[in-house]
Amino acid sequence: MTQPVRIELPTEYEAGPVNAYLFIEPEPVLIDTGVKSEASWQALLAALAEHGLTPRDLSRVVLTHGHVDHFGQANRLWQEGDVRLETAVIVADRLTNFSDYWQKRIAFYRNIFLPQTGLPPQMYQFILTYFEMVAANYEDVPAQALHTYANDAVIQLGGLDWQVMHTPGHCSHQTIFYQPDTRQLLSSDMLLKRTPTPVVELPADGRTRQPSLPTFMRSLDVVEALEVDVVYPGHGEIFHDHRTLIQQQRTRILRRTEETYVCIQGGCHTAAEITTHLYADRPLAIQFAGLWMALGYIDLLLANGRITAHEENGIILYETHQ
Ligand SMILES: [Zn+2]
Repeated sequence: MTQPVRIELPTEYEAGPVNAYLFIEPEPVLIDTGVKSEASWQALLAALAEHGLTPRDLSRVVLTHGHVDHFGQANRLWQEGDVRLETAVIVADRLTNFSDYWQKRIAFYRNIFLPQTGLPPQMYQFILTYFEMVAANYEDVPAQALHTYANDAVIQLGGLDWQVMHTPGHCSHQTIFYQPDTRQLLSSDMLLKRTPTPVVELPADGRTRQPSLPTFMRSLDVVEALEVDVVYPGHGEIFHDHRTLIQQQRTRILRRTEETYVCIQGGCHTAAEITTHLYADRPLAIQFAGLWMALGYIDLLLANGRITAHEENGIILYETHQ
C-alpha cells in the first residue's frame, strides 16, 4: 500500500506544528506546505532531503484549504521549485484573493463582529493585531500558478485514486481526500485529535456571521460514515479509530453546549461573557480560539431553538426562553 510520509513543520502559533504529507512514488507529491517562515522552509527542505528530494523534484503540491499554516509556503515552492500548485475550486479564490479577503475580513471583525460580541478592548486589539500581522506576512497565490480541480474530483496520489470531498465547518472551504480501497483518509483540519475550531469568516454579505459548528457537525456525520483504517490529520500524529474519536468529539461538543446553555440561563448574555465563563483560566491566545468555540455552541443552541438572539446598541444578547 502506498502511504504518505508525515512531515511535521514548525509554526509560531499556539496550535503548534502543522503536518504536510509526502507521497514519494510513483512521483513525489506534497500535500500542504506549512507556514511562511524560514524555520518552516528549512524543516521542509530537511524532510525532503531525507528522501533524496528537493522542491524541484516535486511534481505537484496539493492544498487542502486556504489557512496560512497549510498553504503558506506555496508561493515559495512555486517560485524556487517551479512546482505545480493544485487545489479545489472552492479553495482557489481564498488563495488568489488572499489579501483582499483579509482586508475585508479585518474590517468586518473591527466594525461589526467584535463589537457584537461585547468583548473588552484589549482582547479586541489582540485579535486585530494578530490578523494584521497575518495579512502583512502573506501574499496572494498568483492565479497563473494555481491549477484547480472540481470539489468532488478524483485525484492521483501515491498511484491511487483519492476522492476529494468538500467538508465545511472548520472553514467554509475545507477539503479532505479519501482513498476507499485502502481505507485511508487525509483529513486536514476536518478531523483532528482536538476539536477543530469553527473559524468565524467574512460572511458573503459582509455583515451576517454564518453558523459554522452546526455545519461542522454535519461534516462529522459524513466523515463518520466513511470506512477508514488510517487518518492522516493536519495537526498531530496519525491515528486509526476515527469513529471513536468522532463520538468523543460529539459528546464533548454537546457537553460544552449544555454548559453554554446553563451559563446563558444563569445570566451570561454576550459572547464575551460566555467565552470568559468557558475559558476564564486560559491565556488570551486560547480565549481567542475559545471565542470561536463559544459562538459555535451558541449557534447549536440557536439552531435547536433553545435560545434567542437580539441586538442592542450593537451588541448581540442571547436569552433562554423563560
Ligand atoms: Zn485550518
